[in-house]
Amino acid sequence: MGSVAPPTQSGPDSVASDPARARPRRSRLTHCWRRLLETTAVALNSAAMDLEFSSEEEQFRREAREWLEANRPAEGQGSEDPKVRCEADRAWQRTMFEGGWAGINWPTEYGGRGASLMEQVIWYEEFARAEAPDPTTLFVGLKHGGPTLMACGSDEQKSFHLPKILRGDVVWCQGFSEPGAGSDLAALSTKAVIDGDDLVVTGQKIWTSFGNIAEYQELLVRTDPDAPKHKGISWVICPMDAKGIDVRMIRTIAGHEEFCEVFYDEVRIPRANIVGKMNDGWKVAMSTLSFERGTAFLAEQVRLERLVEELVTLARETPLVTSSRREMALEDEEIARRLARAKADVEALRAMTYRSVSRTARTGMPSSEASLIRLFFSELQQRIHALAIDILGPHVLDWEGNRSVGSSRSSWVFHYLLAFSSTIAAGTKEIQRNIIGERVLGLPR
Ligand SMILES: Cc1cc2nc3c(=O)[nH]c(=O)nc-3n(C[C@H](O)[C@H](O)[C@H](O)COP(=O)(O)OP(=O)(O)OC[C@H]3O[C@@H](n4cnc5c(N)ncnc54)[C@H](O)[C@@H]3O)c2cc1C
Repeated sequence: MGSVAPPTQSGPDSVASDPARARPRRSRLTHCWRRLLETTAVALNSAAMDLEFSSEEEQFRREAREWLEANRPAEGQGSEDPKVRCEADRAWQRTMFEGGWAGINWPTEYGGRGASLMEQVIWYEEFARAEAPDPTTLFVGLKHGGPTLMACGSDEQKSFHLPKILRGDVVWCQGFSEPGAGSDLAALSTKAVIDGDDLVVTGQKIWTSFGNIAEYQELLVRTDPDAPKHKGISWVICPMDAKGIDVRMIRTIAGHEEFCEVFYDEVRIPRANIVGKMNDGWKVAMSTLSFERGTAFLAEQVRLERLVEELVTLARETPLVTSSRREMALEDEEIARRLARAKADVEALRAMTYRSVSRTARTGMPSSEASLIRLFFSELQQRIHALAIDILGPHVLDWEGNRSVGSSRSSWVFHYLLAFSSTIAAGTKEIQRNIIGERVLGLPR
C-alpha cells in the first residue's frame, strides 16, 4: 500500500510519446489552431464578463484587490526548507488575521470573515491574481481541522484551538491514512485503549503531510475493535510532542521532504481530546473530508487560469525541440491545439465551479458535484504540466531540483512532478469516479 503508480503522462495528450506527432508542421492547420486559441480566449473571456456580480460583490472584490496589493508578501513561501516556509506562512496568516481577511469562509463567531460562497470565489480569484502565496503548511488546520472542530468540537476544544489556528500560531497535520488503509480508510488499525482519563495509542500512520513540523494532529484511531469497521473509530486531537511519537520523513519524487510516517508507541492522549462522541469518529471524519473536497481547493483551481497564460508565454519563447528551423513551440500545430484545449478546459472548470457554488448557496447543501470538479481539476492540472514538459523538451534536464517560484523551467519541472499526486490526495481519481457514479449519476454500487 502507499506506493501508488503515478498516472501515465503518455496518453493522447503527450507529444513526447509519439515522435511522428512531435514533428514540426507549419501548415494552414497550425494557423487555424492558433486562431482558435485566440478566438476561444476572446469568446470565453467575454462569456465570463457576462456573469453579473452584485454591487456588494463588486465592492468586496475591490476591497480584496486593494488589500492584497498592499499586503501580499514578496517572498519566503517558496523555500525548500519546510521550517522556513512555515515561519513565512505563519507571518502571512497573521497579517491576514490582523487585516480581517483570515478564515474567509469561517463564521464571524469564530473570528472568520463569514464570507458568502461567491465572495469566497472572488477572494480566491483576487488571491490568484495578486499571486499571493497559499500558507500551505497551515492548510490542515485552516481548511479542515478548524472547520471540523466548529462542526463537532466541544466548547473547550473550540475556544482553545480555533483562535490559534486562525492566527496561524499552530500547524496541524492529518493522521488518517495507514499502510493498510487509504481509499478504504475505515480499515484503519491504529488502536487506542482506555486507561483512566487517557487513551493509549499504538500503531502507524503514513503520508502525513508536515508531520515533522506540526504541533497537533487530527488522528483517527480504533477505539472498539469488535464493532463493524465504520463504527468503533474515534477522531482525536493528538499533540505531536506527546511521548512515544516517532516521526520519519519520506522523500517524494520531486525530491522534497514533506511527507512523514508517524509511529505511536503507547502514546497517552487525554480522553478530553476526543472530538464528537467516542466511537463516532467516522461521522466526524466524513465532515472533515467534505471540507477537504469542498472549497478547500478553490484557490488552486483559480490559479490554473494564470498557469495556462504562463504556458502560452513559455510556448511563445521556447524553440521547438524537433525543428531544424527557428520555430517556436507555439507554432507547432499540436502544441497550439493542446494550449487551446487547456484554455477552454480552464474556463469550463470555472463555469463548473460557479455553477456548483451558486447551487450550494441556493440549497444550503454542498453537492456531490464537488467530486466532479475535483476530478476534472486534478486531471487538468496534470495535462497542463505534461504540456509544459513537452514544450520544454530536453530543457527539463536543466532542472535544479528546487521549486523556485515563478514560471522558471525549474518551477515547471517541480510542479510537473508534484502534479502526479493531485489525482491521489484527498481521494484518488478512481474513488472520485466511484462517488460520481453512485451519487451524481445514481448508478448501482
Ligand atoms: C499529496 C498528498 C498528500 C497527502 N496527505 C495526507 C495527509 O496529510 N494525511 C493522510 O492521512 N493522508 C495523506 N495522503 C494520503 C492519501 O489520502 C492516500 O494516498 C489516498 O487516500 C489513497 O490511499 P492509498 O495511497 O493507500 O492508495 P490505495 O487506497 O491503496 O489505492 C491504490 C490504488 O487502488 C485504487 N483503488 C482503491 N480502492 C478502489 C476502489 N474501491 N475502486 C477503484 N479503485 C480503487 C486507488 O484509486 C489507487 O489507484 C496524502 C496523499 C497525497 C498524494
